[in-house]
Amino acid sequence: MEAKERMERLVETLNEYSYQYYTLDNPTVADAEYDKIYDELVALEKSLGYTLDNSPTKRVGDVVLKGFNSVRHLGRLYSLDKCQTKESLSAWLDKLVKFCGYMPKCSLEYKFDGLTINLVYNDGILQRASTRGNGLEGEDVTQQVKTIKCVPLKIDYKGLLEVQGEGIMRLSALVEYNSREGVTPLKNARNAVAGAIRNLDTKVTASRKLEVICYNVNYVEREFAKGCEMIEFLRSNKFKVSDEFELFDEKAALIGALDGIQKSRDELDFLIDGAVIKVDDTSIREDLGYTEKFPKWAVAYKFPAQETTTTVKDVIWQVSRTGKLNPLALVEPVDLAGVTVSRATLSNISEIRRKDIRIGSRVFIRRSNDVIPEITGIAQHTEESRQVEQPRFCPACGAPVTEEGVFLKCSNAKNCAPAIISAMTHFSSRDAMDIDGLSEKTLETLYNEGKLNHFVDIYKLQAADFEGIEGFGDKKIGNIIGAIEKSKDTTLDRFIYALGIPNIGKKAAKQLADEFKTLESVRNATYFDLKALDDFGDIMANGLLDYWADGKHGEEVDELLSNGVRIAEKSTIAGALSGKKIVLTGALPTLKRSKAKELIEQNGGEVADSVSKSVNLVVAGEDAGSKLAKAQKLGIEIIDEAQLLVLIGD
Ligand code: NAD
Repeated sequence: MEAKERMERLVETLNEYSYQYYTLDNPTVADAEYDKIYDELVALEKSLGYTLDNSPTKRVGDVVLKGFNSVRHLGRLYSLDKCQTKESLSAWLDKLVKFCGYMPKCSLEYKFDGLTINLVYNDGILQRASTRGNGLEGEDVTQQVKTIKCVPLKIDYKGLLEVQGEGIMRLSALVEYNSREGVTPLKNARNAVAGAIRNLDTKVTASRKLEVICYNVNYVEREFAKGCEMIEFLRSNKFKVSDEFELFDEKAALIGALDGIQKSRDELDFLIDGAVIKVDDTSIREDLGYTEKFPKWAVAYKFPAQETTTTVKDVIWQVSRTGKLNPLALVEPVDLAGVTVSRATLSNISEIRRKDIRIGSRVFIRRSNDVIPEITGIAQHTEESRQVEQPRFCPACGAPVTEEGVFLKCSNAKNCAPAIISAMTHFSSRDAMDIDGLSEKTLETLYNEGKLNHFVDIYKLQAADFEGIEGFGDKKIGNIIGAIEKSKDTTLDRFIYALGIPNIGKKAAKQLADEFKTLESVRNATYFDLKALDDFGDIMANGLLDYWADGKHGEEVDELLSNGVRIAEKSTIAGALSGKKIVLTGALPTLKRSKAKELIEQNGGEVADSVSKSVNLVVAGEDAGSKLAKAQKLGIEIIDEAQLLVLIGD
């Protein structure tokens, strides 16, 4: 195809995708798929030296929907320039250094993945709220945004003011919403926000529990010398701003900090699709200016995509360690963040029905930190699409399937081979008893030979039991026997996790161990003791109580202990900072972050990433930003490096 024709085709495709995304709030491809075509178009436009009038590279994306009044923004709203790699970010920063003659201070912030919201205040009163629209005009969504509790209706500042923020839905709110009966599940949090804000029924907006995190003052009749001053202004006027805001004047440190943000991505309760780097000094911002589409003083560093689309080839049912039948979709292999994905999880049959997932349909799949990605929603049905059938008999042992709430269960779980093998595999896994070399395949072989049925049988295995298993020579057998022996010395959190108690994952096991200190106390904990723990709801508390109520579980534990399993007392380092939760912020004069952290931990303290009420102390260095401000607001004691060193007697 000729380059010109190809360019026309790409523009047409992208505009169609944008229509589905922005106008219908119902994307049919993932952002990464859109971005790939967009990048190809940018490259083509560069090589051909011209751009079509309707090219998406020339304009800020959204359109103004009918049904909403269109409003003109006080200042123009822009998109962001993007970098996909550290190398291209480095080149962007080099250009900046060349422009300034030195590395100017730059802020590093989360790039929230939601919907831009523009707020206008006058006389201290919220006058209107709008979407970004085409950058010049947006949709009037004042009534919708007024349902969002964290958006102040009244502020102290009395001048004319335009504030820009991102409307987001917390992932926990999304899960809670999707679990409500009778609702059509929302595909993802970004889509959920767009659909809620651009909805004429404000009750729908209110029901989604949205938040707006503000990051920019777009129009104001006063000056800000720095971006961080702007953020402080927003904070003092009671707007919700992000805690993740750090200033850097060294390129390597800034680029290095991206890894930390990327790592924390999976633990956040909201979506981010990257980080935003902005020159802090507003006079430099003015000198750099804008292109038609984005400011030249800011850039988004995009993380590898976590979402794509693919086709469901089949759905099979796997028996879990608790006997649940878990649906697993076999999908057309597709690349997702550098990994070829061919299987994806689906929660249960009612989710399959609610999301209308069918075999043969194109679906969205998303990867978080789990190994197997999840199907989040339907992209498009095809002519071949057909319903997923609900199994009536266990695919492993043929026993009848029972329904337990939304789940299907094998009625013969205690004797159903995959359930037993899966429980053993979990027991031996790295985060549990950590028996190196005892893989699922080996456990399956031992089970089939009648050598394993209960956890304790693992501790009764002898070298002879492994003889004859394919791939097991003397050395390997020696290693595995050694690993089994070594695993007997364990910790309380590992042991609790290893038991595979329903709904008690790693985090809950650690909480139980930290709180109750001994296995005996965990076994004796009451409903009220358990409910007092952070994030312990009824399901977890009752699940644990039910588990111990079945006497067999207690017997199983006792057998493990009498067969050599030893649970170490939790060692706590006694020191000057024992029991203290400490946050480090800003650049410390002599200590590196890692060294400060090490010193705190050596003295019994714990270093936390963000400031909250449970933090006891904040150690602030130069240019400490939002964390310091939050600590001041919460009345948390703030000290400097010298005071920290005195505290630990260094
Ligand atoms: P963008 O959304 O990637 O980046 C710009 C936006 O980032 C701003 O408008 C702002 O709202 C937001 N943002 C979040 N945190 C910020 C912060 N701390 N500081 C400043 N801004 C912040 O770019 P865009 O031009 O708005 O939209 C393009 C995006 O939409 C792409 O990711 C593209 O993949 C997606 N898209 C997808 C489809 C599809 O069919 N899947 C179609 C069209 C567009």
